[in-house]
Amino acid sequence: MDPISCTVLVLGGGPGGYVCAIRAAQLGLDTVLVESGPLGGTCLNVGCIPSKALIHAAEEFHLARRFAAGSPLGISTADPRIDVRKTMGWKDGIVSRLRGGVYSLLRRANVKVVGGTGVLRDGKTCVVSTDVGRQEITAEHIVIATGSESVPLPGMPFGGPVVSSTEALAFEGIPTRIVIVGGGYIGLELGTAYRKLGSEVTVVEAAERILPQYDAELTRRVMARLGKLGVEVLLNTRATSLDRSGPALRIERSDGREQLLPADRILVTVGRRPRLAGFGLEELDLRMNGGAIEIDDQCRTSMRNVWAIGDVTGEPMLEHRAVAQGEMVAEIIAGEKRSFDKVAMPAVCFTDPEIVSAGLSPDEARAAGYQIKVASFPFTANGRAMTLAADDGFVRIVARADNHVVLGLQAVGQGVSELSAGFALALEMGACLEDIAETIHVHPTLGECLREAALVALGHGLHA
Ligand code: FAD
Ligand code: NAD
Repeated sequence: MDPISCTVLVLGGGPGGYVCAIRAAQLGLDTVLVESGPLGGTCLNVGCIPSKALIHAAEEFHLARRFAAGSPLGISTADPRIDVRKTMGWKDGIVSRLRGGVYSLLRRANVKVVGGTGVLRDGKTCVVSTDVGRQEITAEHIVIATGSESVPLPGMPFGGPVVSSTEALAFEGIPTRIVIVGGGYIGLELGTAYRKLGSEVTVVEAAERILPQYDAELTRRVMARLGKLGVEVLLNTRATSLDRSGPALRIERSDGREQLLPADRILVTVGRRPRLAGFGLEELDLRMNGGAIEIDDQCRTSMRNVWAIGDVTGEPMLEHRAVAQGEMVAEIIAGEKRSFDKVAMPAVCFTDPEIVSAGLSPDEARAAGYQIKVASFPFTANGRAMTLAADDGFVRIVARADNHVVLGLQAVGQGVSELSAGFALALEMGACLEDIAETIHVHPTLGECLREAALVALGHGLHA
């Protein structure tokens, strides 16, 4: 095959990589995207999208079962059933529709997509093994966007009953009993979904509380709900080995007690790590930061014109971070003056209830040396939350005591993920308490709680 030369070569077609490629092409740069698997990467194929589809289906089934048991809304159903193969088919349909969308966006933007595993030979050359032969590509700029992969437990590789999130998003039936190692994002999002679909679920978490990346005031509601749903959560507990005869997971409590947890599936969700193997990293001279490629505030690596974006650069491993980095890198290569100077990296955990956090928590703000005002407004005092039969939770606001500039916004409750855009906007625009208090918030909406929290912080709450 004739060698290709281009201005920008993006290695990896996940959300970071494909967005970078589209933006580069929009800006008139001759761009090639290399992807070994389906376009859309982890997020679209085995991450964000299929997991949220499954979470929604599980919630619908759970509701139908709750109605069968009697509901204050006066709705009754009889003996709801679920056909999991159909559910998985619906989820797969969403994934393939979105994947088709990515293909056509790239085509319309004039990005050349090369399918196959790319291996970098140096900071300018990539060799791709495609279905039809070996393709050499030289580029002025290389953007590494190879993403991340699930971390297995030592001595317990994935296979047989031990599965990662990828397999858990495509089970053919509903497992009778799942033990989940890791009470973080994936363990709790999928654990809650499978509990609602009817599995017995136990979560084994090494730390003293679930979701250690969020503060305890937020996670307490999720912990209480897990209890109500019948999910067993074992804190301060480590998985030690697999007993294949059962199968069962051997665990050790913090006091040294050992126990065997029988399970038909053991889902290991103890984090993800940057995908560094198989693309020729050893041929480059890149500075590393822990197990990730080190980047500066423009996503430059230690090699000239070699850039890295998304999960391969480490935490936080979030789709919207990868996308923002990808867009920025394309714009810098095209000559724009940009740097990654976001005030906030909002994050949502799609548990029940959902958690959203943007900016600093009260503890983080204090640790950063700020004198702060903190105020919360509960959904129990919000009409919309009541009409949704979802009044568990609150919105919290953290602001500087001196000039009232908002430093952080958090919420826990049903559907609060949709508040994240407003939270991030307020922080990026440098809003102060008065700006939020003087903005009209539509009634009746959950968003009114943000304004009410600002009013409480200003000392004149109306509905609290
Ligand atoms: P990836 O999406 O991992 O894409 C990397 C791509 O590079 C892959 O397609 C891979 O095939 C390709 N590649 C790697 N090496 C090569 C090579 N040598 N040659 C060619 N191609 C190569 N984040 C959120 O923000 N919200 C969520 O709700 C959320 N839910 C998640 C749920 C689950 C179950 C999982 C696993 C993750 C979730 N994430 C979520 C995280 C999110 O998926 C990642 O942060 C995001 O996909 C990172 O994008 P990326 O482009 O950096 O890498
Ligand atoms: P995580 O970091 O969220 O959670 C891992 C959990 O496992 C932690 O609570 C940790 O204390 C625990 N743990 C680690 N070793 C253990 C052991 N030996 N025994 C018991 N517990 C142990 O990781 P994850 O859930 O695998 O998710 C990976 C990444 O994917 C996340 O960091 C996030 O960036 C991304 N993700 C995001 C979303 C979202 O944005 N809603 C959803 C899913 C995944």
